[in-house]
Amino acid sequence: MENQFRQYPLEEDILGALDALGYTQPTEIQAAVIPSILNGRDIIAKSKTGSGKTAAFAIPICNFADWEQNTAQALVLEPTRELAFQVKDELYAIGRFKRLKVPVLYGGFPMEKQILTLKQKTHIVVGTPGRVLDHCKRGTLDLSKVRYVVIDEADLMLDMGFIKDVTRILDLMPKRRNLGLFSATISREVMDISWVYQRDPVEITVRADEENKPDITQYRLDV
Ligand code: AMP
Repeated sequence: MENQFRQYPLEEDILGALDALGYTQPTEIQAAVIPSILNGRDIIAKSKTGSGKTAAFAIPICNFADWEQNTAQALVLEPTRELAFQVKDELYAIGRFKRLKVPVLYGGFPMEKQILTLKQKTHIVVGTPGRVLDHCKRGTLDLSKVRYVVIDEADLMLDMGFIKDVTRILDLMPKRRNLGLFSATISREVMDISWVYQRDPVEITVRADEENKPDITQYRLDV
C-alpha cells in the first residue's frame, strides 16, 4: 500500500525518512497540521503527547528547510531539556536524508560549546527559552531567517514561568514569521499569546479518544 503521506507535497527525502520510520498513515493531528504549516499558516493546536504532534510540525519544517542556508530557519521552544532532546531526535530522524543540523540549546550546558556548534551549519534550533534568549542577547544565535516558530507545551511553559522569556524571544524576531502554538489545554493565558503573536490562526483540536493515537504500547516502571 502506498504511504499515505504521499498525498502531501513533500520532498522525496522526507517521504523516504517517513518510510524508514514506519510512518505510513498520518495521525489526526498530522492530517490537520501538515497542510497548514505547508501553507504558511499560524496554528493553535490542542493536543497531547502521544498524538503524533511532534512529527506533525517536524515533517513540514524539515520539508521547507534549505540545506544551503546556514542560519536557523525554524525555532522550536520546549519547556524541558528532556522534551528538547526528544523533539530533536524526531526532527533529526525526519530530516536525516537532507542532512539537517538540529542543535539543542538548554541551560546547564557550557555556553562556549553551544556557541561553537552554532557557528557550524544550523538549520533548525530546538531549545529551552532561557538559554535561547541568552544566545539571542549575546548575538550568538541569529534568528533573522527563521520562518516558523513552534511553542510546544505552551501550558507547561506558563506553569513553569518561562512565558516571559518566550515572548521576549518572539519580540526579538522578524514579524514575518509564522507561529505554531501546541498545548494540552488552551487556557486564557495561551489565548493571550495567540492574540498578540498570531495572525488568523488555524484552530486544531484533536479528539481525546484512543482511535486516533498511533499504535503504541506504553509501559510504566515505578522506581
Ligand atoms: P508524539 O505525540 O509526538 O510524542 O508522538 C508519539 C509517538 O508516535 C512517537 O513515538 C512517534 O514516533 C510516533 N508516531 C508519530 N507519528 C506517527 C505515525 N504517523 N505513524 C506511526 N507512529 C507515529
